[in-house]
Amino acid sequence: MGELKKFVKGHVVVKVGNITREDVDAIVNAANSTLMGGGGVDGAIHRAGGAEILKECKEIRRTRYPQGLPTGEAVITTAGKMAARYVIHTVGPVFGGGGKEKADQLAACYRNSLALAGKKGLKTVAFPAISTGIYGYPLDQAAQVCSKAIQDFLASEVTVQEVCMVFFSQREADLFLKNHSFKD
Ligand code: ADP
Repeated sequence: MGELKKFVKGHVVVKVGNITREDVDAIVNAANSTLMGGGGVDGAIHRAGGAEILKECKEIRRTRYPQGLPTGEAVITTAGKMAARYVIHTVGPVFGGGGKEKADQLAACYRNSLALAGKKGLKTVAFPAISTGIYGYPLDQAAQVCSKAIQDFLASEVTVQEVCMVFFSQREADLFLKNHSFKD
């Protein structure tokens, strides 16, 4: 589906679509701390990518995160059968009552996912709206947090050239476009 709008001198693209079909270096998964798959975008990514993703997630759990991946952190696996090369798995906060800690954790998801992409030399990264589904983070509030986190990251890093925000519906994209805090 088509591009709706660009920000940050063209380095950020907002679009409507299915993130599992994005042909980018890495798509980001709104995972849960088990890394064992789940509902929403997580389930869609594992279904589209195939068993190889779960195999690598299990290995990451065994070797690095036996207690599960902490909220705000990110790890990387193959994208299996999808067009993308990698999946970056990050764990968003459960919104609950909200508050600054939740906002900081959501910002950390974007910052740590992008830092991992940069470290790997990846140029194009696509994000879903982390935490705004099952985890209940209101999209208008999430929009402000994630656009600031992305803009701050791009100001200090040169490897990542294009960040896509992929919304599953036009309604979600419109809500994001009304509430983002991109400055240019
Ligand atoms: P979380 O548990 O972090 O809230 P969800 O997967 O429930 O994650 O939802 C996160 C966002 O991903 C929601 O806005 C949802 O509409 C969206 N989403 C679900 N499936 C897809 C998909 N295939 N492509 C892009 N976005 C998706």
